[in-house]
Amino acid sequence: MTHIFNFSAGPAVLPKEVLEQAAAEMLDWHGSGMSVMEMSHRGPEFISIYQDAVRDLRALLAIPANYKILFLQGGGLAENAIVPMNLVGRRAQPATVDFVHTGSWSGKSIAEAARYASVNVAASSESDKFTSIPAPESWRLTPGAAYLHLCTNETIDGVEFNFTPELSDDTPIVADMSSHILSRVVDVSKYGVIFGGAQKNIGPAGLTLVIVREDLLGSALPICPSAFDWATVAKHDSMYNTPPTYGIYIAGLVFAHLLRAGGVPAMERRNIAKARLLYDALDADDFYQNRVAPDCRSRMNVPFYLRDESLNEKFLAGAKTRGLLQLKGHKSVGGMRASIYNAMPIEGVQALVDYLNEFAGR
Ligand code: PMP
Repeated sequence: MTHIFNFSAGPAVLPKEVLEQAAAEMLDWHGSGMSVMEMSHRGPEFISIYQDAVRDLRALLAIPANYKILFLQGGGLAENAIVPMNLVGRRAQPATVDFVHTGSWSGKSIAEAARYASVNVAASSESDKFTSIPAPESWRLTPGAAYLHLCTNETIDGVEFNFTPELSDDTPIVADMSSHILSRVVDVSKYGVIFGGAQKNIGPAGLTLVIVREDLLGSALPICPSAFDWATVAKHDSMYNTPPTYGIYIAGLVFAHLLRAGGVPAMERRNIAKARLLYDALDADDFYQNRVAPDCRSRMNVPFYLRDESLNEKFLAGAKTRGLLQLKGHKSVGGMRASIYNAMPIEGVQALVDYLNEFAGR
C-alpha cells in the first residue's frame, strides 16, 4: 500500500505512536477495565491523566508557576469572544483592545472582539494581501489597552511571527497560537494569554487550551458564561463542567511523546529543516509560487500556487495517487496548502518535494 502523508491544516496528522497507544488502551486503560471515554472526570484514573498532561505541558513550554493551564471547549473561534469577556473588565469601560491584523484568523478575532470592546487595529498587512507582518515600530498601540491580540501563525495565509514584540508598557499580549504551539520555543512569560484549538499540534478537535497569567484572572464581564470564566475554570482545575476528557487524554499522550522526542527545541530543529526543504522546492523556479515575505513564512502552513492554475485538479489527483493527501488550499484563498505540523515526518515533506519536482518536469 502507498504510504499516506496527510497535509491537512486541521484536524491534522498525529504521531503514529500516540494513535497506536490510544488504540491499545481503547478498551481497557491501564487495567482499569474502562475506556478513558467511560471514566468519570472526578475519578482517580482520569485525575491522574489530567495531572500528567498538565505537568508535561508545563515542562514542554517551561510555563512559569504563575500561569494556569486551562482545558476548555469551543475552539479558537469561541476564544475570540471568551478572551474579551475575561479581559476587558480590567479596564474602565468602554475598554479598547489592540489588534495586529495579519490574516484571516486575526480578522475573525477582530470582528468578534468588536462585540465586547472598542477595537483598534494597530497595524494591518491587508494592503499587501497578508504576505508580511507589519514592523512593530509602525504599530499604533493604545495606551492602557485591555490587551494586544496577535495571531502568531496565520493558518490560511501562511504568515508566522518569528519574534515576540516588546511593549513599552504592561499591556498583556494575547496570542492565538492554534496552529504553531509546541512547534517552536516561546518565552511564555512574555505573554498574558496563549490560546489554541488542539486539532493541529496537540490532539483531537473539541479541546481548547488556554495558558493565562494568574493576575489576569477574576475580571470576567457579568455576561461571560461561568463555564468560560477563566477564574472559575482555574479554581476547579478545568473541571467546573465536564471537560473534553478523551481530548485531554490524547493531548497528554502527545505531550509525553514530545518529551521523549527531545521536547520543543527538537521539534523546532526538525520543523526548520522541513520548512527549508519545502520552500526551497517551491522557490526553485516559477512553476510554483509562495507569496509570503521570506522572513515571515510559516514553518507550519505553506500555501502555494501553481503558475498555471488550470493544472490544479491534475496536481491534486496526482498527489492523491502518491498518498499525499489534503493539499487543497483553503477555499478563501485557493491554490494549495501543505500543513507540516510536528507530527509530519521529514519523509513526508521529502515525498511532497519529489512530487513537486516530478510534476514540474524538473
Ligand atoms: N485560530 C487559528 C490560527 C486557526 O487556525 C483556527 C482554525 N483553523 C482557529 C483560530 C479557529 O479554531 P476553531 O475552528 O477550533 O474554532
